[in-house]
Amino acid sequence: MKVRTRFAPSPTGYMHIGNLRTAIFEYLLARKYDGSFILRIEDTDQTREVEGAIDFIYKTLELCGFKIDEGPNNDKGYGPYIQSERKEIYKKYAEELVEKGKAYYCFCSEEELNTMRERANARHKPFLYDGRCSRLSKEKIKENLDKGIPYVIRQKMPKTGVTVVEDLIYGKIKIDNSILDDQILLKSDGFPTYNFANVIDDHLMEITHVIRGKEYLDQTAKYNLLYEAFGWEKPTYIHVAMVLGEDGNKLSKRNGDASFMDLYNEGYIPAAIVNYLSLLGWSPASNQEVFTMDELISNFDESRISKSSSQYDVKKLQWFNHQYIKNMPDEEYLNWIKKYFTRDVSDKSGYWVDKLLLIYKDHLNYGKEIDTLTENFFVKDINIDEEAKEFMASDPKTLEVTECFCKEIENIEWNVDAINNAINNVKNNLNVKGKLLYMPIRIKASGLMHGPELADTIYLIGRDTVIERLK
Ligand code: GLU
Repeated sequence: MKVRTRFAPSPTGYMHIGNLRTAIFEYLLARKYDGSFILRIEDTDQTREVEGAIDFIYKTLELCGFKIDEGPNNDKGYGPYIQSERKEIYKKYAEELVEKGKAYYCFCSEEELNTMRERANARHKPFLYDGRCSRLSKEKIKENLDKGIPYVIRQKMPKTGVTVVEDLIYGKIKIDNSILDDQILLKSDGFPTYNFANVIDDHLMEITHVIRGKEYLDQTAKYNLLYEAFGWEKPTYIHVAMVLGEDGNKLSKRNGDASFMDLYNEGYIPAAIVNYLSLLGWSPASNQEVFTMDELISNFDESRISKSSSQYDVKKLQWFNHQYIKNMPDEEYLNWIKKYFTRDVSDKSGYWVDKLLLIYKDHLNYGKEIDTLTENFFVKDINIDEEAKEFMASDPKTLEVTECFCKEIENIEWNVDAINNAINNVKNNLNVKGKLLYMPIRIKASGLMHGPELADTIYLIGRDTVIERLK
């Protein structure tokens, strides 16, 4: 059987990290088994819909390098792939369930339901619909329908026994049928609920593996009852534990947590984000961390998905991003970093700008960091921080070094080799080496204790500015 996985986002405007992580697992699984990766848009809750969100989902998946085998833009015979365009399909299947006696029309008004809810609240019980409409006579139902009384269609749950859910990660889970609500399948506006639509679609689209958040695990008993009522084969369920934010809470936009686009705009490379996220809740058999997409696909093993939640750690993401930046060919790196570099370089040569950007290639964690890191190449006065000042005061030799270096560079030809020579002369003249040689020059010239190659830095700051700062 051909493996078919689907990514089924709701078009709510941004893609948060948890959603994307699920998409990654779905994609890797499909590719690993030479299957198909399908995009389905779950827009049945129209109140949450944000305009342009579908384009946005496409853009994100494209940036991540995911090839969508089927979806709204490429129907391969299982469409439509947007749930709001499938209303007739859901209606037909909901009515079929009514005929089979596994669902029923419910005409209860909002007031009646509120009374039931209040009663449940007063008894500190969760609200379960009491099933009164399941007992209506055929004649009464027909009469109500003829009168045009608004209705929903509810699933008729067994009241006793247990339903077993089998999940690849969590094993067998037994759910008591008595806690299952006669949930709504079709709303009065004709839209299906998520709980109904996902089953119909996964079946009709021949999805073999359903990967989704663990929060859906308990609901799956209801889905299984639907599959059984139709006599359909169930997919393999793979529920994945949550990705928690750095504060240990669920990741959310409201919490200010970054979405994929936020990260992208900050200068995180999509391949690095995908690599990092693939390891949130999944671990390869080896301790390799940096993976190309092909390596992720061949190493991905769904049985190694973790049962416990994982924590998003921006420092770790930065480490991955740093590796990807370091490994970019120079040309590609320059094109990329120039999107984030906003300093005024109108009085500099193209050569100077490229060299500046290149000396930071091994030092960057994310794109937008470039402006901050290069600040001292653009300001007149530099700030020397406390630690650097302390270093300068720690040994009288520091002053001798900067004075000697100043003299050495006064008349040299201005290039990196000559600057290195000058540093070497200071070393021989004063008989100093290591930290005591480099640090005073670096601190006085750039204001910082750490940075790219010293001679490159000095060269780019320029002779006049360096001499002025040294003095
Ligand atoms: N539309 C659901 C969501 O965004 C999808 C859940 C699923 O994959 O079944 O959470």
